[in-house]
Order: sequence, then C-alpha cells, then structure tokens
Amino acid sequence: ATEDIKVLLLENVNQAGREILQQQGYQVEFLKSSLPEDQLIEKIRDVHVIGIRSKTKLSERVLKEAKNLIVIGCFCIGTNQGIAVFNSPFSNSRSVAELVIGEIIALARQLGDRSNEMHNGTWNKVSNKCWEIRGKTLGIIGYGHIGAQLSVLAEAMGMSVIFFDVVNLMALGTARQMETLDDLMAEADFITCHVPELPETKGMIGRAQFEKMKTGSYLINASRGTVVDIPALIDAMRSGKVAGAALDVYPNEPAGNGDYFNNDLNEWAEDLRSLKNLILTPHIGGSTEEAQSAIGVEVAQALTRYVNEGATLGAVNLPEVNLRSLTLDEPNHARVVYIHQNIPGVLRKVNEVIGDHNVDKQMTDSRGDVAYLMADISDVNASVIKDLYERLESLPSRIMTRILY
Ligand code: NAD
Repeated sequence: ATEDIKVLLLENVNQAGREILQQQGYQVEFLKSSLPEDQLIEKIRDVHVIGIRSKTKLSERVLKEAKNLIVIGCFCIGTNQGIAVFNSPFSNSRSVAELVIGEIIALARQLGDRSNEMHNGTWNKVSNKCWEIRGKTLGIIGYGHIGAQLSVLAEAMGMSVIFFDVVNLMALGTARQMETLDDLMAEADFITCHVPELPETKGMIGRAQFEKMKTGSYLINASRGTVVDIPALIDAMRSGKVAGAALDVYPNEPAGNGDYFNNDLNEWAEDLRSLKNLILTPHIGGSTEEAQSAIGVEVAQALTRYVNEGATLGAVNLPEVNLRSLTLDEPNHARVVYIHQNIPGVLRKVNEVIGDHNVDKQMTDSRGDVAYLMADISDVNASVIKDLYERLESLPSRIMTRILY
C-alpha cells in the first residue's frame, strides 16, 4: 500500500518534487544535506525510494544494505541490482537555449569586455567589430532538445539557422540541415555545440574545424567540455580567426565552488583567463529556478509511476516498459513486475509460472544484460500472489520481483 512506501530525500531536493511524493501518501523523510556513508547505511535499510542530487554517493557498501530499495531518483541531470534509476536529462533544455541566446548578443557586442573595463573604472566606447545579430547565420551542431529550441529562438531574432546532426531531422521554421560539419563551419557566423559526450564528439571542434571557420566568427560550447579542443580554440582566438567565444563546460570541472579555475585544474585555464571577448561560466547552462523545479516534478512523477505501476519510462538503467490501463484496484487483479537477467530460456520459465493464470497483458523488453517484464493477471487472490512471488523469486535468473495489487 502507498502509505507503507518509505521515501528518503537528501540534498534539499526541490519542493515541487517533494510534494508530488507526499501527495501519494508515501512516508517522506526530507534532509537538507547529503549523509556520510555510515549514517546513510543506517537509514537506507528500510527505505524503498531514495532521492538524491549530485553529492550523494550510493556506494556498493550502501547499496548492499539497501534491502528494500526499489528505485533511485537522481534529481540531477546527467549499479545494477534491480534498483531502477531515474533522472531528468531534458528539463533544463530551455534554460540552456536561453543562455546561448544571451551569449550570442553578448559576444557580438563584446559585452563582457566592456563590463569588465567599467568595473575597473575604464570608459571605452567602441563600435569597431561590434555587430547586430539580425541577418547573421547561426550554426547549431546537434539538433536535439537544446539545439532545436535554440533554432526557434534564434529565428525569432532574425538570424538564419543552419544545423548539423548525425540524424536526419525535421528542420524547424526555415532552418536548413547541412550535409557535413565542414559545410556548417564554413557558412556560420556563430557556431554553437549541443551534442552529447561520446567518443565521436570528443575533440569534434579541433584545429581542422577552426581552419574552416570564417574569419571573425564566434564559438559557443555549453554541451560537454571534451567537445572543443581548447588549445586549438586559444590559438584560433589569438590569431583573430575566432572573434569571441563562450564556454560553460570544461574537461575538468571542480566538485564545489571556490577559486579553482587555474592551471592545476586544466592546464590552459590561465591562458583562457587572459583572452578578450571570451565569456567563461561555471557550467550554469541549466542552473535556473525553473529547471530545478522541472527536475523535481519530472523525477518525482517517474518515481511515483514506477513505485505504483511498475512503469520504467525515463529509467536510466532499465529498458523502458509501460503497460496502460492499470486495473489494480479491481478485485483479483495483480501486476507482476519481474526484473531478470537477459539470458536465453528465461521467458519460458517465467511464463511457466504465470501461464497458469489469466494474463490480460504482458510486455517485456531488455537493455544490455537486464530484462524487464510486466504482466497483468486477473484471477489472483492472496495465496496465489504469494505462490507466484515465491516461484518467480526462486528462478536463478531473477534480479527482483514485485507484485502490485
Ligand atoms: P539531445 O540528446 O536531445 O540532442 C543531442 C543531439 O546531438 C541529437 O540530435 C543527436 O542526434 C546529435 N548528435 C549526436 N552525436 C552527434 C555527432 N557526432 N554529430 C552531430 N550531432 C550529433 O541532447 P540535449 O538535451 O540537446 O543536450 C545536448 C548537450 O548539452 C549534451 O551534451 C548535454 O549533456 C549538454 N547539456 C549541458 C547543460 C549545461 O548546463 N551546460 C545542460 C543540459 C545539457
């Protein structure tokens, strides 16, 4: 029953998310900070759901004690013992897109430099190499959640948009998809990266790509720190090829706030600090009140769906499985949720167990070596449920069994 579900929320998880879980009738314990390993082990023993942000480390020692844990909610953006993990990768797309819009104008007008000069007491009124963005071409690399959102905003400000993506995508507005990255590099006045961190995207913008760029163009990277070859960017800025750049992400980022942006962290940090018209921000692309609240809601809803219905939509480590028309409140209905190793012959064994019953619906999928099965059964009673549970638990391929009723 929902009131038996114990939820532990650490690290001051956003209130909107907390409320969703409380409204479910779960027993929610809320802590403002993370917990040291020993205290976490004490607490986690009878917890079913844990919500964390980026500081909590759910080490092997902790998870070993988490006998009742069925799901982990990472109230952040970015192990397998049958515990589902949910996060919220897309709730901050808009925030990133807006930051980039701000940076395009700030770079075109050298706002960072003018503001720094004024802070140092210097009045330096210039129009040389300051531009309007209207009529300029924005090149978007990676036309996913952020890239596509940005496309619409940029066109609204009178820019022309071109993009490059490995997938053929529906262009929004009058944007145009380019055949190659080189074509994009050669045509755009402003280039912005929105690709995921992958082996293929590492150093994707390097010396050869800077060569292709127009003289006096601009580069923005708020994707992942490995995407742009920074020494190559430094050279391109020193030579004047690149007239300005904005970086929000770096190959090495410190775990906390403080005076860490130096050569001990990244060997070229001090070179970057000396460059003009370079906006440096500490990975704040998604750092807005709105994004934090959207993360809270999205993760809490995913946790609730998983706990109450077994649906794994949005899970990071399980195949995404959903069965509609849940009829659990009807008498004699139950839903079997079975996480098992993805090895040949398992499904036959599982079906031997549930096949004697009236299976209304069944759905199964796998992801790597884990498989997830959901089946709705409509002729059960308490003793049948107990028997089903025990038989499924005794199969050697079992990772976790839950029966919802
Ligand atoms: P997404 O998955 O929605 O879109 C990524 C796009 O890149 C997809 O369309 C994909 O097809 C494309 N792509 C993949 N490999 C490619 C390649 N080699 N060449 C060209 N295109 C390629 O992702 P998103 O939500 O738009 O996020 C984009 C990036 O932004 C991610 O790296 C994410 O981690 C980062 N991000 C940063 C912040 C921040 O605070 N700065 C916040 C959120 C996301």
